Amino acid sequence: MAEIHRSACPLNCWDNCGFLVTVENEKILKIEGDPSHPITKGNICGRGRMLEWRTNSPERLVYPLKKVNGVFKQISWNQALDEIAVKLREIKEECGSTAILHSHDYANNGILKNVDQRFFNCYGGVTEVVGSLCWGSGIEAQKWDFGNAISHEPDDIFNSRNIIVWGRNAARTNMHFYQKLVEAKKRGAKVYVIDPIFNATAKMADEYISILPGMDGILAVGIMKEIVRLGLKDRNFIQHFTIGYEDLVQLISTISLEEISEITEVPIDVISRLAKVYGERPTSTFMGLGLQRYENGGNTIRLIDALVAVSGNIGIPGGGANYANIQVGQSFSLEELTLPNRRENYRQFPIMKQAEEVLKTTNPGIQMIIVTCGNPLTQVPDSNVVKEAFSSVSTLVVVEQFMTDTAKMADYVLPTVTSFEEEDLYYSSMYHHYVNYGPKLVDPPGEAKSDLWIWTQLANRLGFGEDFHYTRDQWLKMCLKTLEEKGFILEKLKEQYTLDLPIKKVPWDNQKFQTPSGKYEFTSNQGKLKLSLPAESKWSNKELFKKYPYSLLTIHPLRSNHSQNYHLLQPEPFVKVEVAQNIAERLNLNEGDEVRVWNDRGDITGIVYIMKKSHSNTINIDEGIWRKFGGSVNSLTSSKQSDNGLGSTLYDCLVNIKKQMNCR
Ligand code: SF4
Repeated sequence: MAEIHRSACPLNCWDNCGFLVTVENEKILKIEGDPSHPITKGNICGRGRMLEWRTNSPERLVYPLKKVNGVFKQISWNQALDEIAVKLREIKEECGSTAILHSHDYANNGILKNVDQRFFNCYGGVTEVVGSLCWGSGIEAQKWDFGNAISHEPDDIFNSRNIIVWGRNAARTNMHFYQKLVEAKKRGAKVYVIDPIFNATAKMADEYISILPGMDGILAVGIMKEIVRLGLKDRNFIQHFTIGYEDLVQLISTISLEEISEITEVPIDVISRLAKVYGERPTSTFMGLGLQRYENGGNTIRLIDALVAVSGNIGIPGGGANYANIQVGQSFSLEELTLPNRRENYRQFPIMKQAEEVLKTTNPGIQMIIVTCGNPLTQVPDSNVVKEAFSSVSTLVVVEQFMTDTAKMADYVLPTVTSFEEEDLYYSSMYHHYVNYGPKLVDPPGEAKSDLWIWTQLANRLGFGEDFHYTRDQWLKMCLKTLEEKGFILEKLKEQYTLDLPIKKVPWDNQKFQTPSGKYEFTSNQGKLKLSLPAESKWSNKELFKKYPYSLLTIHPLRSNHSQNYHLLQPEPFVKVEVAQNIAERLNLNEGDEVRVWNDRGDITGIVYIMKKSHSNTINIDEGIWRKFGGSVNSLTSSKQSDNGLGSTLYDCLVNIKKQMNCR
């Protein structure tokens, strides 16, 4: 008989939804939203529902594989683990432990996925990847300004008079925020969307503001200039709770509103109107993760933070510079789990530059790469270089559920479980403050094993198995150690399936910031604000712009969580090249035409779709598509780091486009 169980979404997503999972005869039949979840209230997206296909897919990896003479052969777990352990021991003895690169990302969440770090730390420390392809420069920017990157609780939006959604297509990526946005609008709030793409969120807004990609920080400067001119700044907040305001005033005096309008391609009257909107407190700002994926990305977020601060929208209900909510992740005792002090030696590569570093680093050079929770061949920028780097090492091990582009290149593929095949806790540091419990509901297929089991077996072989001999409950309690001291206990979470974490609901309401000065820092120890531009734009590189006159965005796909679902989609996916109307008119492109998009790093072909109301000279190709379906679009993107070193510059990308000749 079918039974319905409560569970949670493990995908790396803003919403961290509660699920109801129907199970019959040891098989997942259906995934629906859990109406009792306090935030997600029974609504989930297609990516969540598709976890049923993921779990039951005949394409699942179910046995350990070893590549012999270019062909994968099924081997036993004992053979796979023994051989990998021998290589790990030999490399450590002969080259040092940092000759291993651990390349990881956040493809599947679950707090116990972090056990991989415990393994590598107990092994002695390896070469790690740092920073983030996704949101790193924005997090760092907010740490400089506020001392932390934290957001208002979801229902605080109902206190906002005006809501600015800046570069976040919530309808696609943060659906429960979108639902609250619709409700807030019904209750009388005005919604403004600033974005180069006229997306589904823009459609519901009171006003859509189209902007040239990468120029958001310059627009924030323009709005601040108008706030100051119109006498709308919050003198009390600036005087008592900030430092560095004089530097900001000096900075905004170096550029005129006419120049700002020309650079951003936003009309002056719109800039002036936005200043009045910010002046009508409380106005909340909700930033997306794309607007900081440029060389000037950290500075962009800092300028938007400064705008929110100058207008007096910090620390008040209905206000906020909402970017991320990393206080959620900070609640857990992750160091108890990962044991960073056990490293004897370690080295770090920026995540976006991992391939270049593999190719050039010596003493020791990288001998072996172990990939967990990621698909770097598809997701890391400049993917032609990633392919070269990952082919250059003597051993590549990939822990995976499916034969991704990265797994295909591996020497060993170790099959891992889906979230319904193991017990874990799920949270997201992007939006709300609830942690969810997911029990084990079914057995994994074939010989697939949990990551925790794989690391324990390898640790046993390498002589530090005692650091892994805990029950699931003991592991989970380890992560909750500091929370348990506040009365937040595992048993209660297991009983209720979701609990709210004891964290700030309205950040900075006491005006005490986590910065070195204790104040909001317009100028931080790390430096002053700047008028910086993307590396690839008509304003910063005229020669490049002549060759490549179009801005390429690579936004989050609708039906896949990054590269995780493409192989499950029917009909078979293809590369969709979305172009602004003016490009279609200039190049005589029609929907359905085949086009080539290229720059000095690579090229890709795809089928034209026309974005009727989006910013001129803008192209979008969704990220994540596999090679066998025509990807990866990251053959075009740059591996440069953002200004503060911790973010990618995936959207800082000029390209050209041409209709393909029909030679059939
Ligand atoms: S992908 Fe996000 S919105 Fe969709 S079900 Fe999972 S957590 Fe919810």
